[in-house]
Amino acid sequence: MPKKKIAVVGAGFVGSTAAYTMMMNNTADEIVLIDINRDKAEGDALDMNHGMSFLPPVRFYSGWYGDCADAALVVLTAGAAQKPGERRMELLGRNLRVFDDILSQLLPNLAPNALLLTVTNPVDVLTQYVLERSGLPPSRVMGSGTVLDTSRLKWAIAEQVGVDPRNVHTFVVGEHGDTEVAAFSATTVSGMRLDQYCGGAPLGMSGTGAGYRQSLLSCEAFFHSLHDGVRRAAYGIIEKKGATYYAVALAVNRIAEAALNDQKAVLTVSGLVDGAYGIGGVCLSLPRVVGAGGIERLLEVPYDGGEIRALRHSAETIRKAYAAACVPVRA
Ligand code: NAD
Repeated sequence: MPKKKIAVVGAGFVGSTAAYTMMMNNTADEIVLIDINRDKAEGDALDMNHGMSFLPPVRFYSGWYGDCADAALVVLTAGAAQKPGERRMELLGRNLRVFDDILSQLLPNLAPNALLLTVTNPVDVLTQYVLERSGLPPSRVMGSGTVLDTSRLKWAIAEQVGVDPRNVHTFVVGEHGDTEVAAFSATTVSGMRLDQYCGGAPLGMSGTGAGYRQSLLSCEAFFHSLHDGVRRAAYGIIEKKGATYYAVALAVNRIAEAALNDQKAVLTVSGLVDGAYGIGGVCLSLPRVVGAGGIERLLEVPYDGGEIRALRHSAETIRKAYAAACVPVRA
């Protein structure tokens, strides 16, 4: 069996928790953690190795970009994070400088078929920057995009309808950020449209759904009120504890295991859109099949007209931010 190696760049809240989650889930045989703050990466590696006697073997160490030469996946989590009240897009200028520093060292050391996964915000603009600057095929450059937001929305709906979040199917698409779109038209509870499910089931038996009225309109309105909570979720968590990292680490792990184990999992990763819904030349999230080749296919789900208009608006927001800030230099 070929070795499965993951490099994580950035040993902050997100990078270290993602590395820990991947270690705990045995997602890779080897994990290397890289950070400009070498002491932090070294300290984390030691701390994690001290628990290794409780786990199936994983080689875990701190390193530098030369250690990426045999990594199947490189996860980019380094850079500034949001402060309370700060929007993701406001991080762009700072994180472009961080990415320039990282990419100039990483790209000459990349394995021939390596996949790149951007997590740092604003994740869609930075995914596009990595794609442009690396010159890699679009299939090999992903962002964690709205995988986290989709999971948040599944959980919020599941709490209301009283089922396992894994039996809720929905997509948050577009920007991972303020213009993201939740697709009510593609939301089901195990194949049953949400409004049908709500019409026939004892909704409100759990959670705060008790006041919910079972009409088509209020079901959709209720869905959008849940999504408003999802859109604002990071602001609330950052206000309370300064950062978000557990759920995004699980999202990173899910993408990594789909790619490294060729699972063909449908995930709302960010990637280049080339014509779908009349959108082209911009990176954003849509449901995609993720396997050993990275992004293997885009699922052009038939969203309704309002959702598609909102998706195009989201694409425009990302496009403008990219055009205003990014001047990619091919390595
Ligand atoms: P953090 O401040 O805890 O960690 C950032 C790390 O990056 C630090 O350890 C720092 O030393 C390192 N770093 C900075 N410049 C570097 C460079 N040039 N080379 C190597 N390492 C460098 O921040 P965090 O909470 O871990 O967040 C990291 C990023 O992840 C932020 O941009 C945040 O907004 C983003 N994030 C994304 C999602 C998502 O769903 N996409 C979710 C949560 C956070």
